[in-house]
This record gives sequence, C-alpha cells and structure tokens, in this order.
Amino acid sequence: MSKPGAVSETFGCNTFSLTEMQKRLPRPIYEAIQATIASGEPLDTGFADEIAHAMKEWAVERGATHFTHWFQPLTGATAEKHDAFLSFVDGRAIERFSGSQLIQAEPDASSFPSGGMRSTFEARGYTAWDPTSPAFLVENEHGSTLTIPSVFVSYTGEALDKKTPLLRSMRELGRAARAVLELMGRPTKGVASTLGAEQEYFLVHRDLFKLRPDLEVTGRTVIGTTPPKGQQMEDNYFGTIDDRALDFMGEVEAEAWNLGIPVKTRHNEVAPHQYEAAPVFQPINVSSDQNHLLMDIMRKVARRRNLAVLFHEKPFAGVNGSGKHNNWSMADAEGRNLLEPGDNPDQNVEFLFFLSSVLRAVHHRATLLRASIASAGNDHRLGANEAPPAIISVFLGDRVTEILDTLLAGKDVSAVQDQVIQTGIEVLPEVVKDNTDRNRTSPFAFTGNKFEFRAVGSGQSNSMPMAWLNLAVAEALDEMWSRLKGRLENGEERNEAILAVVKEVYADAKPVVFNGNNYADEWVTEAERRGLPNLVNTPMALASLVEDEAKEFASKYGMLQPHELDARYVILLEKYNRMIDIEAVQAIRMAKTGVLPAAYAQQAVMAEAWKGVKKLDIDSSAQKEELETYCGLVNETLLAIDGVRQALANAPDEEEAPEKADWCVSTTIPAMDRLREVCDTLERRTDEELWPFPSYHALLFQ
Ligand code: ADP
Ligand code: MG
Repeated sequence: MSKPGAVSETFGCNTFSLTEMQKRLPRPIYEAIQATIASGEPLDTGFADEIAHAMKEWAVERGATHFTHWFQPLTGATAEKHDAFLSFVDGRAIERFSGSQLIQAEPDASSFPSGGMRSTFEARGYTAWDPTSPAFLVENEHGSTLTIPSVFVSYTGEALDKKTPLLRSMRELGRAARAVLELMGRPTKGVASTLGAEQEYFLVHRDLFKLRPDLEVTGRTVIGTTPPKGQQMEDNYFGTIDDRALDFMGEVEAEAWNLGIPVKTRHNEVAPHQYEAAPVFQPINVSSDQNHLLMDIMRKVARRRNLAVLFHEKPFAGVNGSGKHNNWSMADAEGRNLLEPGDNPDQNVEFLFFLSSVLRAVHHRATLLRASIASAGNDHRLGANEAPPAIISVFLGDRVTEILDTLLAGKDVSAVQDQVIQTGIEVLPEVVKDNTDRNRTSPFAFTGNKFEFRAVGSGQSNSMPMAWLNLAVAEALDEMWSRLKGRLENGEERNEAILAVVKEVYADAKPVVFNGNNYADEWVTEAERRGLPNLVNTPMALASLVEDEAKEFASKYGMLQPHELDARYVILLEKYNRMIDIEAVQAIRMAKTGVLPAAYAQQAVMAEAWKGVKKLDIDSSAQKEELETYCGLVNETLLAIDGVRQALANAPDEEEAPEKADWCVSTTIPAMDRLREVCDTLERRTDEELWPFPSYHALLFQ
C-alpha cells in the first residue's frame, strides 16, 4: 500500500529522467540532451559513452541485468531483444554497456515484415536510440531490463517501423509552425505536437476468456448472441467502478507512475466491463511510446489478477466498441498551446489561423487519415452497420463555427474583422470554453483547446495516425505561410492579413465541418454531396496510401518514400488478410467442435420429446414445427460452415494481397456473417447448459 503523497515522490522512479541525467552527467552533456529533447537537434554521438555509462550505473543500481532496444515494428505492437550487461574481462565478470551499444543495435530482425524492402535493397535493419524518449526499467522476478526507446531503420535509411515517420512528421510540423510564428512576429525556439491518448478497453474474467478461443485468438467474439436491447444499461457510463476493476486500475497506475506515465483519469465507459484510462498529454513521441507501455502493463496486470484485458475495437457485436481518442495539439517552446485562444486579438487571430490549418489538413488529407486507422478490427467501428460511417469530418461546435462563418460571410474584410474582433475575438476564450457541447459521434472533434481524433482504434499504435496528422498540418501551414507572406509583403496589416488567410482556407475546407449526428443515415448522403470520401473498409482505405498524390506528399516532406508506401500498403493488407483468415478458421472450428455438438444434443432431446408426444392424442403441431425449425438451423449451420470453408479454399493467393483483400470483403466476411447468424440463432434456442461457450451475458455481467 502506498502512503498518501507517495506518488509524487516516486513518480518516474523507473525512468532515466532528465532529473536523473542532471545528477549523473556533466553539465554540457546534460544540456545537449535537453536541447535534443526540446528542439529535436541531433545529439553529438561523442557523448554516447558517457551517457551509456551513466544509464547503466543507474539501471544496475536498480537491479537491471539486461538492456534492450525497444521499437515499434510494422506489425504487432512493440519488439525487443534482450542482451545481458554481463561481459568478461580477463576472465572476470563485469557489467558493461558502451556508447555504441546505446546508440545502435542490430537485432536479428529478418522475420519482421519489410514489404520486400530489405531484400530489394539488400539492407539490414538496425535499431537506433531515440534520445527524445526516456529509457526505462521493466521489472521482473529476477531483476529488471533497461529498455531503450528506439527506431528501426534500414542501412539505406528506410523506415522499418512506425516511430521513424512519426519523428519525421514532428520535425516537419515543428519547422512549419515555427516559420508561421516567425512571420507573425512571434518567433519561438520550437513547436512540438502534443498527444493525450485516452485508452478504452474491456476487462473480462480470465476463466471465461479462456473458454472463448475466438477472444483468445482473434481478440473478438466471432460468434455470440447479443444481449437483449436495454441490457447494455446506459447508466454504466461514469457509473461506480466495481472493486475488481478498481483494484486492477490501481495496480496498473502504480506501475505506470513508476514509469513516468502520467495516468490521471479513470472511469467506466458506455458498455458493461468497459473502461477508460487517460494520461496527461506529453510530446507526441513520448506519449506514443507510453501508450504502448501502458497497454503492456495492463496485459500483465490483468493476467496477474485473473482478468483479461481486451483492446480489440469491437470484441462484442452489438455492444459499444473501443477507441483510442487521440487528443492532439501544438505547443511552442514557451509552453503556449497554439490551439488555445488567448487574452488579446493578436493571440486570437493566431488561434484561428492554427485552427483553420487543421481544418484544411483534415479536409485535404482525409483519405490518408482514414488509411492510418484502417484495420480489420476498426472496420467494425467504422463504416459497418451499428457503427458511425468511415467519413472523416470535423466537429467544431456551434460557436467556433459561427465565428468562422461570420468571417466567411463578410464581403468587406475590414468590416468582418471589426465585427469579429470586437464581438468575438476579444472574448474568444470564453466563447470557446463555452463550447461544451461535445459530440461523441464525430471522428475528429475540436474540444476547446485541442482536437480529438476519436476514430483511432483501441488496439492500434498512435504513431501513424499522429504522423499523418502532423504532416497534413505541416503542409497546410506551409501553404498558409505563403499566402500570409504575400499579404504582408503587400502591406496588409498583420491581423487583417491573418484573418484573410483564415477566411480563404475556411471557405475551402468548410465541407469537412459537420456538427450534426454522424450516425444519421442522411449524413452519408450529405457527405457524398459535399465530396467527402467514405472509405468503408480497410482495403479501400489502404489504397489511399499508394495513390500518386499521397506518394508525392509523403516524399516531398521526407516522411516516407514512394517505395516505402508501396511496402507498407502490402504489409498492412497482408495483415488484414491474415486476420480475416484466422477469424474464419476460428469460426469454423467453433461451429464444428462446439456449436454443432451442442445443437445435436439439443436436437436429440427435442426429437425424443416429440417422439413421445406424437403418440398421444394431443395437439403437438407447434412442437413439431419447433423441431423442424431447429433441425433446419442445424442444417443451415452445416451449409454455412461449408460456405466459409469454400471462401477460404477459393481465395486468391496470399501473394496477391489486394485481390485477396477484395475477396475477404466480398466473400469471406459475408460467409462468416452468415455462419454467425445461424450460430447465434441456435444459441438463443439451445439449453444454456449445453452451450459450450460463455455467453455475452456471462462475459459482460459477471
Ligand atoms: P475530456 O476530453 O474528458 O474533457 P480532458 O480535456 O481533461 O478530458 O483531456 C482529455 C485528454 O486530452 C487528456 O489526456 C489530456 O491530457 C489531453 N489534453 C489536454 N490538453 C491537451 C493538449 N493541449 N494537447 C494534447 N492533449 C491534451
Ligand atoms: Mg475526451
């Protein structure tokens, strides 16, 4: 039990933090690291030995025996390969960790997907220390491992991970935003994007989880009948957290805090046994790493407490799904949030400028944002029935929309400026804060002083969604910079020129703003009228990655080269195809080995009963009908199993990833849906005692 007040004293004790570095490193080295973290300046590799030594001393004092570079490969979550510090000098055992080991490692990582890049370029992959994200200790029974956040790249510079593009996008956004501020006469040393990722998840009893091979293998239930309507209990949201979940959260938080993850908020989510954890925002690369770490901690703690944590976007059909709301903003080196209106018109026109740059970015690069969140799991949350559409739009709230609309409506810029500055811009902070009408249906919402990208899936890494968002905003800012520069050179007054650019950009991007109900059918039609893309499934969304325009965009900014996008496209499609195949195989297996045996038993009981009854002189026609219906369902199950089997057997080869993905959409998934439908009907008609899998009711209410 920790004592009151203890958290602040131990917070971050398992990280090699700036405070720790200050204690242990010579001042110039410490200052160099600080500068690297603050502005992304490259770190002098000449310091590596001393940093490595200090890091090792710190880690070994805390029981570390091993170190590892820790990175985000293109599939899966994170990867690591441990090496012991143990070395031998003249037959004597010592702990050793050199600068070069800190800076670079060469995991034998040939099994990670590279979409053919490494074989094409004959380049080996290596991991490189990311000094902007603190190293940390992961404890185990026998000691701990010094874990070094890293990137994973090829020798020819291709990004083989998710973090490299993120770091590159941060660089671009920082550069673009800095240039804009400079032009506005408010220079700053740097601009960083910030992220606070709210993590949604389910907790279920591990004993029950173990009885659901679909949950265990695919992360979701591929069969299972939805609880009757109303059973989801609307009052769960923010309700009292049950003790089991609270104990789990407490243990997770204690570990997270030691690792410097500022988890702050916890509450129940909409569905039973669904929860959310939210840390305080951080620079985006740090919070992206920390989110991976938090998920790891949750998995471990759940296991310890005989629970299972579900990060799948839709573990239960018909029940609220899970997301990872990415709260995103930009902050300058002085700590000012660029999406926060200020105390005076100067700051408020800047706010409108940055706000509209995001509108432009989301409008212009919607397909790439959509691609960045595409996965087999997230398809159940986006674009499917019982889910909001996959249309990327922005919720701005009525007041902010009104301000922009007023600006747009004015024929005479100076009149508009007067009107807005006097009635709106002066009091903008109040107006914006007032904007509490949160629209939970929007995939991308402005929430007062930040945007919230809500369509990100609960199970995925934040890195690529954030990388594309950063880059899209960088592009918008660059373009707006040119416009602003032109106007200022023409002698326009600063605020007038800024507002004029805002107006132009808003006029163009306005179709992306939608404050209404995203779940309404009319929105799909309306969005189409507005020309917004609606990429309803993963293959459609991923195709955006390889369009010429996307390649030009990503390579122009040095984030990813065209052949890297080609490779990523294939890797992500293959991952999708594999997941659908696994789900299909799992569905067949459960139907054959669980559902059918139960159904035969039920059928036998019914047939036996009917045999006894039909000899008697009583009306038993309804029972006969019931038996016939049941037998019919069993028959349909067999046919549906065969349908899935055929879909798998006739699918295009794995090597033809796009064709195979189309087949999954057109054939495999519908066949699985059909099988699920009959299995779920049987479940509703079969003796609970006979049913081989824990029901939704058991999973969600026990
Ligand atoms: P809510 O969305 O429920 O109102 P908060 O506003 O407190 O909750 O924040 C939700 C998440 O947004 C938290 O993770 C918080 O740290 C993060 N957040 C707040 N401000 C920013 C910001 N400027 N940049 C990025 N994330 C932010
Ligand atoms: Mg929120």
